[in-house]
Amino acid sequence: MQHLKSQQLKDYTTLKVGGTADNLFIPSNLDELKELVGEHQRKGYHLLGNGSNIFVASRRIRKPVILIGQALQSIEIDQTSGVVRANAGADIRKMITDSTRCGLRAPVELLTIPATVGGALFMNAGRSTLKTTISDHLHSVEVFDGRNTFTLDKQQCEFGHRHSLFHRRRDWTILSAEFRYQSMPSSELQAIRRSSLDAAKDKCYRRHASAGTVFKICDDRLIKRMRGRRFSDAAFSESTTNCILNYGSAKPWQIRALISLAIASHWIRRKSIHLELEIW
Ligand SMILES: Cc1cc2nc3c(=O)[nH]c(=O)nc-3n(C[C@H](O)[C@H](O)[C@H](O)COP(=O)(O)OP(=O)(O)OC[C@H]3O[C@@H](n4cnc5c(N)ncnc54)[C@H](O)[C@@H]3O)c2cc1C
Repeated sequence: MQHLKSQQLKDYTTLKVGGTADNLFIPSNLDELKELVGEHQRKGYHLLGNGSNIFVASRRIRKPVILIGQALQSIEIDQTSGVVRANAGADIRKMITDSTRCGLRAPVELLTIPATVGGALFMNAGRSTLKTTISDHLHSVEVFDGRNTFTLDKQQCEFGHRHSLFHRRRDWTILSAEFRYQSMPSSELQAIRRSSLDAAKDKCYRRHASAGTVFKICDDRLIKRMRGRRFSDAAFSESTTNCILNYGSAKPWQIRALISLAIASHWIRRKSIHLELEIW
């Protein structure tokens, strides 16, 4: 296991801003991960997947941060039954690509999402325009609560729009998940893959640092008005609505200011607004 002190978290998030973690732990296997989670259960900790939905706003993160990736990367595919078991730290893009290579109809629509399996399930990541979420063909999730490991079926995970039971149970760690995919001829799979990649090809977050969508609930008209609002290197994208970009050296306060501006514009007009990205 690696224990790194005073680590800049911007190096571990896709938005590439933010402060320093007093203690960053990188377990190298499942036992080490469980030991860490058990040890820090009482005082709390942060789990970090690929950091693609996290804005590290604080200068200093005192809670220990546990980076899941390295410990839990394995992916097992049974081509005949279509059962895919992936550990929480595996990249969903690898899981999807490996599954499609075996002729399985994995959610190729989600190949644009830079997530780990754990982070994607936590968020119920998906693409609404393509009516696809990571939980669509989920069978079960293996969870660790600091003492015991147990299995939840899909129903028990309370999936909703960018929501799951794990938002409420921050003390539970997703260890692995089982998906069941149907077979599909390669030509059909490739056609869906191509069209869903094409649909995202102009999205600005594919070219600049970002954390994807900022608000999961907001007013269309008001959020569109935020396009192009900028504080130095932090800006709401001109082309992709509801997305803040870091053009290089954005500061956390600048991103906070953009978020606050959007929230204020909704409050003034009594419109609902809820963050999708998580602020540390
Ligand atoms: C370029 C880009 C495109 C994106 N496109 C989309 C999109 O199309 N659709 C979409 O829904 N999102 C999208 N996102 C947002 C983001 O990728 C998703 O929210 C993703 O699910 C986050 O996964 P992650 O592994 O990076 O999790 P992180 O950002 O590291 O963590 C997110 C949350 O999950 C928790 N978590 C992580 N691992 C575990 C675990 N094993 N057990 C329990 N909790 C855990 C973390 O503690 C945190 O609370 C995009 C982001 C970027 C940068």
